[in-house]
Amino acid sequence: MKKYKHINITNYTQDKNILKLPKQIRRDIEIVSQVLPFRANNYITEELIDWENYESDPIFHLCFPQRQMLSSKHYDIIKNGIEQNKPKTELFAISNSIRMELNPHPAGQNCLNVPYYNNKPLSGIQHKYRETVLFFPSSGQTCHAYCSFCFRWPQFIGKKSLKFSAKESHELVRYLKKHHEITDILFTGGDPMIMKMSVFSKYITPLLDNIHKTNIQTIRIGTKSLSFWPYRFVTDNDSDDILKLFETIVNKGINLAIMAHFSHPRELGTEIVKDAVKRIRNTGAQIRTQSPILRHINADSDIWTEMWRKQVNLNCIPYYMFMARDTGAKEYFELPIAEAYEIFRKSYSSISGICRTVRGPSMSCTPGKVMISGIAEINNEKVFVLRFIQARNPDWVAKPFFAKYDENASWISELKPAFSDKFFFEDEMEKIYNNKITDCEENKFE
Ligand SMILES: *Cc1c(COP(=O)(O)O)cnc(C)c1O
Ligand code: SF4
Repeated sequence: MKKYKHINITNYTQDKNILKLPKQIRRDIEIVSQVLPFRANNYITEELIDWENYESDPIFHLCFPQRQMLSSKHYDIIKNGIEQNKPKTELFAISNSIRMELNPHPAGQNCLNVPYYNNKPLSGIQHKYRETVLFFPSSGQTCHAYCSFCFRWPQFIGKKSLKFSAKESHELVRYLKKHHEITDILFTGGDPMIMKMSVFSKYITPLLDNIHKTNIQTIRIGTKSLSFWPYRFVTDNDSDDILKLFETIVNKGINLAIMAHFSHPRELGTEIVKDAVKRIRNTGAQIRTQSPILRHINADSDIWTEMWRKQVNLNCIPYYMFMARDTGAKEYFELPIAEAYEIFRKSYSSISGICRTVRGPSMSCTPGKVMISGIAEINNEKVFVLRFIQARNPDWVAKPFFAKYDENASWISELKPAFSDKFFFEDEMEKIYNNKITDCEENKFE
């Protein structure tokens, strides 16, 4: 198979397609990317984006900074800084102070999810839900390209205090040996599939060698590489090695799930992605898919219908539809809960049962993953019907609860309980929050 050379595009002047864009658009990319990390590659610019229609192109919005991703106030501050030829360090300081206003760490991930072993925080691990731990290998803390909606963007801008990452997996293995309630480990980032096989195996080998002393039954790998660099599994130097590793994991009787991020059916249409999916599936690994619902990218039921249908035809399993998190360019992407739910319902009701493995729309908030089950009228009051699909306390899961209908609300923090003055889990959440070990200030309810 012909090799395909990865060309990184981190600069708005490097690519022939970008150079053809109107000057103002290039200027916007330059300004906005001072604040929000930007990175694309030649697969995205050559095979995914339709440059003739770049203004409405979903992949262009997915990967390239847009003017409205910053408030006019923030945009002008950066623009003036550049026009006044401020020194780099000063511009950097300005960008950083704007970044701090964009809620870099949503949903209590700093305060509440970091586990302890012998009174020491394990900084590359998050343990929020009983059965599943997230592991952030330090070499996997970047991506083949950056999504403009990313909620992990602080990982990419070099502020050490904001980063999760683990240099090795021995602490993880020790933790798993002690915590047999954990059945699932999710390698995440960034994108763990950015790692060369030789690096990735350093993390995974100690785990595989000790797996019988843990209760791990599923290894998940969260990745956007099938969308942004499917060559990873087909023509990269170590493509075959990574597939062999997948096979080894499966042959150990472990369920290996590639959690693939696809935000638009366009990402499923190229020959190379189909090849990559086939090769991964041939190892015995599953591919499960997820994406947030996003204005300018996929806020349309036909798009989701096509996407889920295509995924299932390729043998992938639709898993989650998320609400966009309150971070970064949230206002640019967000949809009201009511609208997201209608899009979900319209699409979900038009596909066959085989595609209805998907759950959502779901908000990953501090107490857990809250799914919008429906909009109903009870005793003449219009309400959202909600339920946890994952929760800090497993006992909260799958119990319906109600919030007052609000046409504009786009996150749980904007919802008011219906038929009660508190949501059923609030007192307990308050207790969990007050007992937190790490001393930091984050919103306990977002
Ligand atoms: C979504 C998520 C998981 C995985 O939850 P499942 O319901 O098992 O898919 C684990 N940890 C965190 C912090 C999550 O947000
Ligand atoms: S793949 Fe995930 S972590 Fe990487 S830029 Fe996209 S949203 Fe962020």
